[in-house]
Amino acid sequence: MEKIIIVGNNVAGTFTAQNIRFLNENVDIEIFTQESYPYYTRVKLPELISNKIQVNDLIVFKDDWYKDKKIKLNLNTKVTKIEADQKFLFIEGQNNPVSYDKLILALGSVPNIPPIKNARELVGKGVFTLRTIDDTLEIKEYLQNSNAKKAIIIGGGLLGLELANQIKNNNLDTTVVEFFPRLLPRQLDDECSFMLKEEIENKGIKVVLNAVTDEIIGNGFVTGIKLKDGQKFEADIILIQAGIRATIDLAQNSGLEANRGISVNEFLETSKKDIFAVGDCIEYKNQTWGIIPACMEQSKIVAASALGLRKIEYKGTTPKNTLKIVGLELTSIGIFDPSRDEGGSWEILKKADKKDCCYQKLVLKDNTLKGAILFGDNKAMSFVYKKMEQDVTREELMEILELYLYKCSNCGAEYDESKMEILFKALPNDWKCPKCKQLKEGFKKI
Ligand SMILES: Cc1cc2nc3c(=O)[nH]c(=O)nc-3n(C[C@H](O)[C@H](O)[C@H](O)COP(=O)(O)OP(=O)(O)OC[C@H]3O[C@@H](n4cnc5c(N)ncnc54)[C@H](O)[C@@H]3O)c2cc1C
Repeated sequence: MEKIIIVGNNVAGTFTAQNIRFLNENVDIEIFTQESYPYYTRVKLPELISNKIQVNDLIVFKDDWYKDKKIKLNLNTKVTKIEADQKFLFIEGQNNPVSYDKLILALGSVPNIPPIKNARELVGKGVFTLRTIDDTLEIKEYLQNSNAKKAIIIGGGLLGLELANQIKNNNLDTTVVEFFPRLLPRQLDDECSFMLKEEIENKGIKVVLNAVTDEIIGNGFVTGIKLKDGQKFEADIILIQAGIRATIDLAQNSGLEANRGISVNEFLETSKKDIFAVGDCIEYKNQTWGIIPACMEQSKIVAASALGLRKIEYKGTTPKNTLKIVGLELTSIGIFDPSRDEGGSWEILKKADKKDCCYQKLVLKDNTLKGAILFGDNKAMSFVYKKMEQDVTREELMEILELYLYKCSNCGAEYDESKMEILFKALPNDWKCPKCKQLKEGFKKI
């Protein structure tokens, strides 16, 4: 019977196994993971810190699932080398190689630690990153035992902010320091990012932008950080959430082509025969992903490819990100700032209501919906998900965003909210028609 080995047991590895089993009842499926838990979700890890949930709540598939699907799961098993030509691999602490017919690498990624003086030396002694259950338990234990009062989170991306929120929930004085001049630099434009910063600060979390961390201060244990501009901040714990790096060492050391991720083609085949890769660890057409929807999409393609079906081609996944902080609805999808992209005719419909903390922006290229930012109001979310990369009309988008056209009853001049920076209702009471100076109340919604 053909034997398929999958290395890695998170979203990509697990759903690949499930999809293979769906397509083929008989093939042998075996998973190796260096972690100690069956498939669990990383999405809620920050909530483990503030005791909102327990480890068991994170486990998605328990032992029964693996039994039912006839998938053999090997926990605490690290693969150290692949002999691609002879089709076997080595496991840490075991002498005998394990053979395979097809091998799927779902190795994921690890937190990036920027080149900050002292950062690596103080890992575990007040400096932490968060990726796994074990990382989270370590942070929790440190918080309990050290009586920490002040925390700094290096990185104002999605994970940095979610983590800051949970740390704040633990009653620590919490500061986020962000390298870029705005929060969520990869998901938001300047205007929305500014609104988000205010909301984060309203939660009692301090935010420092343009903050290039130069050094972690501490001799044996952390006492603070120093920025490049000389500013110093005290801290008892520092959490680095400064992006991720695809895990490529195993593949590279075994002769597979890799760059920022393990190089794959449209069938998710690597440069070596019968070895495939899926999830956070891959690079396809110079792009890496790092989000669950990409893992899910790729897991269907790689399952078919590994079974020799080679039917579906991977075309990339549209980036989709949601900030998970209670009370802050924020989703960013696809292209949100076309000024950075070249070519085509781009159009933007925007509804910004600073008073109600609501910002909605839809981006079109040649009448196709290419991206959106939805902050404070996610009524348009299902529409956006359904219509991404499809033709849409300006009228339906105005309806979805509840943007209106107002007409001056005196001279017929129009106030089209979709093209203006300010909503009609937010105009000052003494605002007048720019053409005939008619008062605001002389305008009618049409
Ligand atoms: C706190 C947090 C919150 C997140 N929230 C979201 C979210 O809301 N939405 C979203 O889309 N994404 C989110 N993500 C990202 C998402 O979790 C990842 O995209 C996803 O986990 C990637 O899955 P993967 O299977 O490719 O890799 P990973 O999850 O990294 O799993 C790879 C596994 O392979 C194991 N492995 C690696 N090398 C070896 C080896 N040599 N031998 C054996 N085992 C090995 C690793 O230990 C790991 O267990 C979040 C991530 C974190 C950390």
